[in-house]
Amino acid sequence: MKVLVINCGSSSLKYQLIDSDTEGVLAKGLCERIGGEGEITHQPEGGEKKKEAASMPDHKVAIQLVLNKLLDKEVGVISDLKEIDAVGHRIVHGGEKFASSVVIDDEVLAEVESCNDLAPLHNPANLIGIRACMAVMPGVPMVGVFDTAFHQTMPSKAYLYGIPYEYYEKYKVRRYGFHGTSHDFVSKRVAEILGKDVKDLKIIVCHLGNGASVSAVMNGVSIDTSMGLTPLEGLMMGTRSGDLDPAVVTFLAEKEGISADEVVNILNKKSGVLGLSDGLSNDFRDLQLARAEGNEMAIQALEGYAYRVGKYIGSYVAAMNGVDVIAFTAGAGENNDCVRELIGQYIGYLGTNIDPEKNKVRGEERILSDEGSKVITMVVPTNEELAIARETVRLVK
Ligand code: AMP
Repeated sequence: MKVLVINCGSSSLKYQLIDSDTEGVLAKGLCERIGGEGEITHQPEGGEKKKEAASMPDHKVAIQLVLNKLLDKEVGVISDLKEIDAVGHRIVHGGEKFASSVVIDDEVLAEVESCNDLAPLHNPANLIGIRACMAVMPGVPMVGVFDTAFHQTMPSKAYLYGIPYEYYEKYKVRRYGFHGTSHDFVSKRVAEILGKDVKDLKIIVCHLGNGASVSAVMNGVSIDTSMGLTPLEGLMMGTRSGDLDPAVVTFLAEKEGISADEVVNILNKKSGVLGLSDGLSNDFRDLQLARAEGNEMAIQALEGYAYRVGKYIGSYVAAMNGVDVIAFTAGAGENNDCVRELIGQYIGYLGTNIDPEKNKVRGEERILSDEGSKVITMVVPTNEELAIARETVRLVK
């Protein structure tokens, strides 16, 4: 089967056409600045990546442009739209309604819409992408894969906040967790690599990208994760603050003469390692380079970042009463040896024995711990698009 995987943001749209039989990527690309004069980047398998300007007033036009690229005589990879058997959509928030992926119909669309309040920046954009695909590709089955679904197995002691229970009852204020597709994919892959049953393992997955979260996966299910009602909670991230005293919001609003919304915007967009490095960068590559040159701000940001990851790992060891594997994934987790080395300072007591030579790895599966280590640390590249394609095939077949 050929599955088109769509990850739609408010002004961007990422796509991959995946052959589910070979699990190869036939083509991939990105539409940016949807809503005006935008750009489309397209790369066919084994071909060159090309970016060009294109007018894309809305998502429907963007999807049509993507389909035109896939059908193009020179850079296309299919000769008829009928070759696309199904479309898999990433949906950020499924609330408590969706504990697994679903075939999208009108009822599902309405239920996803009812979760918009919980992810106002993401869900409306995901819905626009789905509706645009439905309009341009009528009759093609669409599947929704939720970032929150994998974490729906968390027990109430992990997902309830210490606030009046009525807010959970009235508004469903609770921890949901995100990056579920990645935590699911990586934990299963860990078991495969080790030749074990995931049901026999206690795994901590550290998804360290620009957005970052840690999860505790026990016997194959998520029992806790660091992101909360929104993706702002938990680890310090590229630009997001992660955990802080909630009173900071009103304190800063008063001092700066701004609204609570504006403070939350700062916590989302100007904080994290970007904020802690005094605006130096949200990119771990830049911070790693600056740290090597002795830049105090970069050192401060990276130390603070790793310290928090280390503390989360410690807390999830407690949550699971032990740990067998700690897996690093996503941009910085897969590629940045400096970040992993710094985190290593806080987990050695577990018997991780990370070999500094083995740690010099980028974007490939590798066990970092010495043979016979009590706890195995490893790098496992995530592949959310492939996971979405697999889910789509599972549901459509
Ligand atoms: P993601 O959100 O998963 O794309 O991750 C983005 C983060 O991964 C950025 O902060 C990058 O600095 C980091 N990253 C990506 N590639 C590399 C690399 N080759 N070396 C070091 N860090 C990287």
